[in-house]
Amino acid sequence: MDIAKRYSIAYKGLKNGHHEFDFKVDDEFFAAMESTDIKGGDCDVHVTMERSETMLELGFAIEGYAVCECDRCLEDCKVPIEYDGELLVKFSAEVRDYDGEVMWISPADGEVSLTQYIYESIVLALPYSRVHNEGECDPDMLARFTVISEEEQSDEVEE
Ligand SMILES: [Zn+2]
Repeated sequence: MDIAKRYSIAYKGLKNGHHEFDFKVDDEFFAAMESTDIKGGDCDVHVTMERSETMLELGFAIEGYAVCECDRCLEDCKVPIEYDGELLVKFSAEVRDYDGEVMWISPADGEVSLTQYIYESIVLALPYSRVHNEGECDPDMLARFTVISEEEQSDEVEE
């Protein structure tokens, strides 16, 4: 399924009021977004929506994990993701640029794609340091780095 369609809400046929949606973010999602930091993952995205004539008030709760390269051993590690956020989607014939809080769409669209918002939210939720828990790094990789740094040191001594 088209990644933009998979994470979209077709609000046109919905009544004004409260609605809820659940999406699943997986490896395919991150591959489609061509993410450089995130190799894969698995997150549940729960969306609440208050629909009115002029806008959609969306609330997001994202929970799961992303797979990143460990800063210490360079092997894949699972980084926990937890994100809560809000987004206003306003209907306007004159569509303006998304400013991080308000997204503008033409009322003729009939649906809103959340793909980019979900992706950016997960990237924001990534911790600065992405490492395995203590003791979970790949020991072979760590040993290789240690050997390299020892060789570098001995080279320096010879010079
Ligand atoms: Zn590691």
